[in-house]
Amino acid sequence: MFTAFLIKYAEIGIKGRNRYLFEDALVHQIKYALEKCDGQFLIHKTQGRIYVDAQSEFDFDEVVERLQTVFGISGICPVVYVEDEGFDKLVETITGYIADVYPDRNKTFKVQARRARKNYPKDSMTINMDMGEAILKAFPEMKVDVHNPDIVLNIEVREKIYIYSEIIPGPGGMPVGTGGKAMLLLSGGIDSPVAGYMIAKRGVKIDAVYFHAPPYTSERAKQKVVDLARIVSRYTGPIYLHIINFTDIQLYIHEKCPHEELTIIMRRYMMRIAEHIAKETECLGLITGESIGQVASQTMASLVATNEVCELPVYRPLIGFDKQEIVEVSEKIGTYETSIQPFEDCCTIFVAKHPVTKPNVNVIRRHEHNLDEKIEELVATALETDEVIIVE
Ligand code: ATP
Ligand code: MG
Repeated sequence: MFTAFLIKYAEIGIKGRNRYLFEDALVHQIKYALEKCDGQFLIHKTQGRIYVDAQSEFDFDEVVERLQTVFGISGICPVVYVEDEGFDKLVETITGYIADVYPDRNKTFKVQARRARKNYPKDSMTINMDMGEAILKAFPEMKVDVHNPDIVLNIEVREKIYIYSEIIPGPGGMPVGTGGKAMLLLSGGIDSPVAGYMIAKRGVKIDAVYFHAPPYTSERAKQKVVDLARIVSRYTGPIYLHIINFTDIQLYIHEKCPHEELTIIMRRYMMRIAEHIAKETECLGLITGESIGQVASQTMASLVATNEVCELPVYRPLIGFDKQEIVEVSEKIGTYETSIQPFEDCCTIFVAKHPVTKPNVNVIRRHEHNLDEKIEELVATALETDEVIIVE
C-alpha cells in the first residue's frame, strides 16, 4: 500500500543558510542507509520536506529499520500516493485507507489538508470539512477531535495526492557530517561504542582508533572491535578505524614504571597517540567511553591525569551514566551482544592488583621520565605502522 515516506526533522536551529547544509547532509545519509536495502528509491526535497519514493518493490520493515538509523530524522511517515481523480474518488481512497490501517476504529481524528497545488477546486478548510463529514458517514464509530485526536489524517494536494497519518519515531539528533569530525577511542568494551553513537547523534562524523597488543591481545579481540565499528557505522557512515600496535609501548611502561600507575600511564599514551592521529585527520576532538568512578582509571583524579596530556577537547558523553544506563543504550543500538564477547583487551592484561585511584599528576609525570630513553621512538614506530581499515 505505502509507496513513499515523508521524513520529518526538527527544524529548530536550522533556519536560514544552515538549512540547506542540514537537508543535504540528511539526504546524503538517507541514501547511504538505503543503499543496502532491496529496491530503488528516489530521495528528493520538495518545499521544505524530504520524501523517499520507492520506485520498485521494497520490504517495508527493512526500510523503516534503516531510516531509524539516520540521525536528524525525528519521524518517518509512510505515505500513500494517489492520482487526483476528483473528490469522490479521494473519499473512496481515504475510507479504504482508514479501513486498512485502523482495524479498530473506536478513535478520534481530524483531517489536516494542505493544498500545495493552488488550482485544486477545494481549499484546505473545505477539504477538512468535507472529508471529515465523509469519514463520519463511512465510520459512525469515529469521532472528530480537533485538539487532541488519536489520528491526524494528512492530505497533501500536490501533482498527486499524498495521504499519511502514522508517524514512526526516528532517532532524532542531527545528520552526521553537519558537526565536524571526532576521533573515538574504541575498545572492545560496552562503553566506547555507545559514546561514539552519542556524539555522532549530534551530527559529528566519527573516526576511531583501537590499541592492539598482540600477542597479549588476540586477533579475535581485534576482530571484535572491527565488528563493533561496523555496527556503529550503520548510524555514522563509513569509519576510518586506525589499529595501533601498542605492545612495545606497553611492555616498556611495564618495565620502567610503578605497576600501580601502569593503567594511568598507558591511558596517557593512548590519549597522546589518539590526539596525534586526530590532528592529522582534521578531527576536532577525542571521544572516550569514560564514566566517573566506574573503575580506578576513571576517578576524577585519574581523569585529571589522562586529560592533561591532550590539547583537543575530550568528549565523554557517558560521564554521568550508570553502567545499567549504558547497557540499555548498547542494547538499543545493537552493540551489546558483540561487546560482551569474552576477549581480553589490552587494559586488562597488564593491570595491577591495586591501581592508584588518586594519582598525583606530578608523580606520574616524574615516573614517565623513566621512559625518556626509548618512548619517542616507540611512539613514532606505532604511528608509522598504523593500520587503517575502512569499516562500513
Ligand atoms: P569500554 O567498555 O569502552 O572498553 P571500560 O569501562 O573498559 O570502557 P577503560 O578500559 O578504562 O574502560 O577505558 C576507558 C576508555 O578508554 C574506553 O571507553 C575507550 O574510550 C578507551 N580505551 C580503553 N582501551 C582502549 C583500547 N584498547 N583502544 C582504544 N581505546 C581504548
Ligand atoms: Mg575497556
